[in-house]
Amino acid sequence: MIYHPENYKIRDERMKPFIDADEIWSYINSEKPSPEQVQQVINKALDKNRLSLEEVAILIKAETEEQIQAIKDGARSLKEKVYGHRIVLFAPLYIGNLCTNNCSYCGYKSSNTKAVRVTLSPEDLIEQVEKLEDTGQKRLILVYGEHPRYDAKFIADSVKIVYNVKKGNGEIRRVNINAAPLDIEGFRIVKDAGIGTYQIFQETYHPETYDKVHLSGKKKDYNWRLTALDRAQEAGIDDVGIGALFGLYDWRFELLSLVRHVNHFETVYNVGPHTISFPRIQNASDLNIDKNYLVSDKDFTKLVAILRLAVPYTGLILTARESAEIRDEILQFGVSQIDGGTNIEMKGYTKEEKSQNIDKEQFQINDNRSLNEIMDELISNNYIPSFCTACYRLGRTGQHFMEFSVPGFIKKFCTPNAILTLAEYLEDYAPETTKEKGYKLISQKVEEMGDDKYVSSLKEKLTLLKQGKRDLYF
Ligand code: SF4
Ligand code: SF4
Repeated sequence: MIYHPENYKIRDERMKPFIDADEIWSYINSEKPSPEQVQQVINKALDKNRLSLEEVAILIKAETEEQIQAIKDGARSLKEKVYGHRIVLFAPLYIGNLCTNNCSYCGYKSSNTKAVRVTLSPEDLIEQVEKLEDTGQKRLILVYGEHPRYDAKFIADSVKIVYNVKKGNGEIRRVNINAAPLDIEGFRIVKDAGIGTYQIFQETYHPETYDKVHLSGKKKDYNWRLTALDRAQEAGIDDVGIGALFGLYDWRFELLSLVRHVNHFETVYNVGPHTISFPRIQNASDLNIDKNYLVSDKDFTKLVAILRLAVPYTGLILTARESAEIRDEILQFGVSQIDGGTNIEMKGYTKEEKSQNIDKEQFQINDNRSLNEIMDELISNNYIPSFCTACYRLGRTGQHFMEFSVPGFIKKFCTPNAILTLAEYLEDYAPETTKEKGYKLISQKVEEMGDDKYVSSLKEKLTLLKQGKRDLYF
């Protein structure tokens, strides 16, 4: 359904759709930039300024090897400047794959009769969460199909169940949600359950393509989805995540539209989305899409580097859809969160063996490493894997903004908290070899912090952790 004002009860300016396809194309179709223009835009980003749509388009149109290299180098150095060395880890947990929508790119579409449909019972859910806690996970994103059964109350109830599962030293400290758009009242109910981020991806921002790939179901309504996170804001959820599924339409259009979506939030709510996700289409059961738009590795790594430069203060989430090699390259561009030890099969975390049957999954996972393998590798590459949830639990609201705008925030909070949650993991879940490596990294990072006044407090907390205290943070 293409937007028509009478189809919507527009409450005010905030709920108005904000993507103008012709405008986006006009930026892409403008003249090719000179090398100087490209460098100027990179320099502006390196000064930690947000880029305009026009400037992002200049980077998109940069095509020579040298220019692409300069963009990637820029993203790397911005990461060094802004983010420090922590990478936050989480795991997705599929709660139910009943779905009334028919998205041509998804294995769980309603017309796929081969898909095995499951909704976790409370007991199943507890079992999955216990298993995740056993590996050391502390942050989950719960994923739901779009179905009347998964209404706001169902979502809120599952969030509460997850928070109540405690096994040994294990507990889930932050539950994020990836589910269908709700109305304002629905978002309120879910917010009251104590969620972290509510994530809704537009999939494609291109209205005609959107109409084409969403064959039937409520999701066919482009604007209901586009304005969903505005309704979430209205309901008091100011921690939201946006995303596009790359491969449905021209990646340049999707990239500019994501930036346009960020602009919309910044203009209307004074704070951008917490995170942007950029999943790329992989093989799914019964995949039925125009393959012309599939994004090559070369374009994909370029687009992530551009995104980093375009929105220096927005968290970027990379998922296990990508291979370990691509993940390793993109991590250098300042990705702030990745999933680890992911299993997207329904009830998958309690299965001994991963299924080879893609009818049981929404899409294909290309990084099958366990959480510990990923932790181990991050540590070896000088990253501090983090399970930090401090701001959200201390009510430091708007943390994704404070993180970058408050001087020294990362040094004072994020890095020490990453170290503490890593130490907790090493004590409770890591095999000896990872533990040894991890503590070595911690000593090195504490050393690098020099005489900072927080270092002594951090050292005290590390001692307490070794003595058995848990959940310590700044
Ligand atoms: Fe349903 Fe989501 Fe799959 Fe679409 S992408 S068919 S809404 S589970
Ligand atoms: Fe995120 Fe706050 Fe922890 Fe930093 S201290 S990693 S901003 S929760």
